Amino acid sequence: MKNRQADRHRGREYDLVVIGAGAAGMMAAITAARRGRSVLLLEKLSKTGAKLKATGGGRCNLSNTLSNEAFAEAFGRDGRFMRPAIDAFDQHALRAFFAEIGVETDAPDGFRIFPAGHNSQTILNALSAEMEALNIQSVCGQRVTDVQKNSGLFEVTTAQTHQHDKAEGHYVSKTLILATGGKGYPKLGAEGDGYDLAAVFGHTSSPLFPAMMPLKVAEAWVAECRADTIANAHIVVDIKKYRKRQARGDLIFTRDGIRGPVVLDFSREITPLLTRDKAVPILINMTKGMDEEMLRKHIRERLSGSTHYTTLGLLETLLPTSLAQVLCRLSHAVPELGFSRQRGEVREKLIKLLAWTPLTVTGHEGFDKAMITRGGIKLREIHDKTMESKLTEGLYFCGEMVDLDGPCGGYNLQWAFSSGVLAGLSASA
Ligand SMILES: Cc1cc2nc3c(=O)[nH]c(=O)nc-3n(C[C@H](O)[C@H](O)[C@H](O)COP(=O)(O)OP(=O)(O)OC[C@H]3O[C@@H](n4cnc5c(N)ncnc54)[C@H](O)[C@@H]3O)c2cc1C
Repeated sequence: MKNRQADRHRGREYDLVVIGAGAAGMMAAITAARRGRSVLLLEKLSKTGAKLKATGGGRCNLSNTLSNEAFAEAFGRDGRFMRPAIDAFDQHALRAFFAEIGVETDAPDGFRIFPAGHNSQTILNALSAEMEALNIQSVCGQRVTDVQKNSGLFEVTTAQTHQHDKAEGHYVSKTLILATGGKGYPKLGAEGDGYDLAAVFGHTSSPLFPAMMPLKVAEAWVAECRADTIANAHIVVDIKKYRKRQARGDLIFTRDGIRGPVVLDFSREITPLLTRDKAVPILINMTKGMDEEMLRKHIRERLSGSTHYTTLGLLETLLPTSLAQVLCRLSHAVPELGFSRQRGEVREKLIKLLAWTPLTVTGHEGFDKAMITRGGIKLREIHDKTMESKLTEGLYFCGEMVDLDGPCGGYNLQWAFSSGVLAGLSASA
């Protein structure tokens, strides 16, 4: 790959300039270059694919094994917008593409797809080698500061991101792809520049919220349960109108809140509510989906088998000790006392707490720790069949900067790759 410094003068004319060398931008560049187009890829960080490298804790959960229909549905009502992109390049095409460029993939749990070897660097190396083989000119350390369209050509201005040299670069192209990502994890590149660049052409964004991050809660007791992971927890918003906002998965308590896969998914649902209310009540089921009736049955069965259970011991058949102790305290139960010897109202309270433990979400760490941005360039301003702007001919979007975000499990990377392919195909049609 030719990772050169930018020309100080207006350079040669490219068929395509791609802004942003993340999953979406690299895929768009490769797709167009494979069709014989001259492609310039501009990246403000010193290397391509910084976020891609960090994905999945370095393991890179590329996609999942859902059908195209179920995959799109996981993005909610707007998921249908992505069907042309997913149909153009779905999980099977993605696995075939990576196999072709030298990285086999696997899905050890039958759902999440990883590069075999579970190392994101292998994906990055393969993409870089493919870009080099295709003669894609990749210029890193150049932040795009302005884009214009004059006389049918796009003019792109950049500034060096190294502090010692603020030299500008100027590039010209027939088509332009914006692939600058969202606003989450800014140290990995995406800081929301793309929304301003798109605004030059009249594009607008839906409200932007940080998503997929740990949440802070008001209840101090969570700190006592820090060591424990609760498998298969179910979280719902405890506001009647928003009861449908929920998530399921593993939960981990922190010093001042909750994290883990279920919280990453749930945080997508709750950050819009947190901008309105300072505190959002939630309920968590930590007993693998048991409702009050099932819990009563479980307790009856345990007590019929042995009369020696203390209340704490009984709760320990369902929860880790630290959490069992907390629930005893919250319900004013005496832990050492037998369950049937607790007062009736205490027993009732305990069963209710076991079915749904209340917590109050009070905050989060904002975009700094957000793996995903909720919101982006409005879908109604983009043609779904081509990813082309409805406002400016020759301008295309792909990846996270578009107003679509999915849950944990390879959804967001597959969307980035699929929309990158569709934008690259359309820009080189
Ligand atoms: C820690 C972490 C782990 C994740 N794990 C997973 C996972 O396992 N599976 C999954 O599906 N999703 C995961 N995600 C989400 C996924 O990584 C993103 O949705 C996806 O990478 C977005 O790709 P993109 O190409 O649209 O944007 P990005 O990867 O953010 O790329 C945008 C690029 O544009 C560059 N750029 C921005 N502005 C400019 C400018 N003005 N000039 C030049 N360049 C610019 C940026 O530096 C960046 O390199 C994870 C996210 C994070 C933060």
